[in-house]
Amino acid sequence: MSFTMSFRTGKDGELVYGERPQFREEFLKKIYNRRLNIKAGLGEMFTDFISMEGNIAKSNHPFIQAAGDTCEGITSDSHFLVQLREYVDLGIENKSFFEESCFMFFLESQGLSLPAMHYTLVMKEGQEDKSVEDFIEKNNEMSPLERMMRGYVAAKNEIYDVPLTTYECETVEDACIASLHFLITHECNILKCQNCEKYFIAERSDAKYCDRTSPFNTKTTCKIDGAQRTHRTHSNENDVDKQIRLKKKARYQYYYRHSNSEKACKDYDNFMDTLKAMQIDLKSGAITKEQFIKWLDEQ
Ligand SMILES: [Zn+2]
Repeated sequence: MSFTMSFRTGKDGELVYGERPQFREEFLKKIYNRRLNIKAGLGEMFTDFISMEGNIAKSNHPFIQAAGDTCEGITSDSHFLVQLREYVDLGIENKSFFEESCFMFFLESQGLSLPAMHYTLVMKEGQEDKSVEDFIEKNNEMSPLERMMRGYVAAKNEIYDVPLTTYECETVEDACIASLHFLITHECNILKCQNCEKYFIAERSDAKYCDRTSPFNTKTTCKIDGAQRTHRTHSNENDVDKQIRLKKKARYQYYYRHSNSEKACKDYDNFMDTLKAMQIDLKSGAITKEQFIKWLDEQ
């Protein structure tokens, strides 16, 4: 083992699902190298890693720093990463792919396996010198073990925190597998940002944007910029709808005034049929919005 990846989520010594936990963190520690000891938000290193493009081996991503020589030549097109991203995309679309057994099957299909894993109880900050035996009265009828166990049950929420899940890793593949295993077995929401298209972890399953700097505006985040850009697109779409409505009204009024004329009748029917076809083409992307508006103006 050359480095460990540890994770925890929960509060008051217990794992919690759904609600807002006190801890959502991960740690990467390189054994025999105290300088490499990185703490991040849960799933942050993994989602950054699989979102990277180009020559990943040359980046200073924590996984690359930790795995050292074993990741020479790894790029965003490397077979493992391409397969992994496709699996994550499938899971985002269809949560059943993120069931643990399904994940194990994916690993097996790639000739990979889950790195060795263990749990560690973590004492709460400032409680490190306490002993569980202090939490139960001395009673000669109890064996030392029973007293200790009863003491633990009485004291656990006060002195212990959510256990750390630690995976022993050698390679970047191990770090990715460890991260993804923890994330899916703890029902974390793995999502893809609709603004920058990078992966991220969100508290809400319906989140759309990540907290990274927006690629379209470096002064703000995807969360703010993405929502504004979507709003702008919507108001543009509304402009088109409005123009269609006005044009339809004008055409109808003309037809109404000339309802005795066979030509006016035919023209109106033609216009409605062509409009329908043009709207389908616009929706499918066969024509651009500009082409559509130009056509509408000519009517
Ligand atoms: Zn984003």
